[in-house]
Amino acid sequence: MLTAHLPSGYVLAQLTPEGRWLMPAALIGAVLPDFDMLWFYFVDQSSIHHHRYWVHVPVFWVAVAALILPVLALRARALLAPALVFFAALFLHMVLDSIGGGILWGAPFDDHLYTLVEVPASQPHWVLSFLLHWTFLLELGIWALALYLWRKGRPA
Ligand SMILES: [Zn+2]
Repeated sequence: MLTAHLPSGYVLAQLTPEGRWLMPAALIGAVLPDFDMLWFYFVDQSSIHHHRYWVHVPVFWVAVAALILPVLALRARALLAPALVFFAALFLHMVLDSIGGGILWGAPFDDHLYTLVEVPASQPHWVLSFLLHWTFLLELGIWALALYLWRKGRPA
């Protein structure tokens, strides 16, 4: 997914019951894994698919959530809802990345990047291949839903 992670976090937050810190938690969780692009470009010189980094591996976030959520439930209950939304946004990110990009859903048991649709390298640059593939319509749909919810506002 190229462009719709941030609006997907917005949609997620809009669909949750109103609460403090839910919107920032959703927006941060929705985009956080893609900060690995900095490592991908500046350290690894694009030598490994960035979906293989730990921030894109579902089992890593399951482990982090399994450690953090019980602590918050016992010690900082006010942060539990934002944390749940944050982890939900992270998993939404990985689900959306699975549409055309591939995610290590089987890790650590296998290293296959599971994807719903193979986007062929039909253009000179991979970004163009994704922009001109039918799956990009899903991204436009997420943007449209986010804009619709933003224009509509939250019910009182
Ligand atoms: Zn990603």
